[in-house]
Amino acid sequence: MTAIERLMREWLASDDPAKRLHAEARLKLPFDETTPTPSEPQTGCCGGDAPRLPGLATLAANAAVAVATHVAHGMPSAPDDVHEARLKACETCPNLILPDWRCGGMGGCGCYLKTKARWAEQVCPLGKWVGT
Ligand code: SF4
Repeated sequence: MTAIERLMREWLASDDPAKRLHAEARLKLPFDETTPTPSEPQTGCCGGDAPRLPGLATLAANAAVAVATHVAHGMPSAPDDVHEARLKACETCPNLILPDWRCGGMGGCGCYLKTKARWAEQVCPLGKWVGT
């Protein structure tokens, strides 16, 4: 079982309805193992080796769930202060992949964080920031 699948199974029992909705949708889609980061060189938050992105099937599934969840909530935008606070949390997270601001590593979703953090109902896959 991949780290993302394990996390989604935990979220099914969460008190947070946004997490449950996300997990229910995500568990209907495939999971695969983590693959190396593609194309251009990327670095982690402290200039070390970049965390890895999930494999393509997981990336596609996570993106589909993020979009579906966003649409299901009426596509709300997070205010600037919430957006900034979320990105500040990502900035110090070892899962951050620069320069693209993507979420990788163990349990990372692979999402583009500047967009994900703007979508009000989205949640950090490791619980470092929550939906509003
Ligand atoms: S979304 Fe969460 S796990 Fe991903 S980089 Fe940001 S703080 Fe880290």
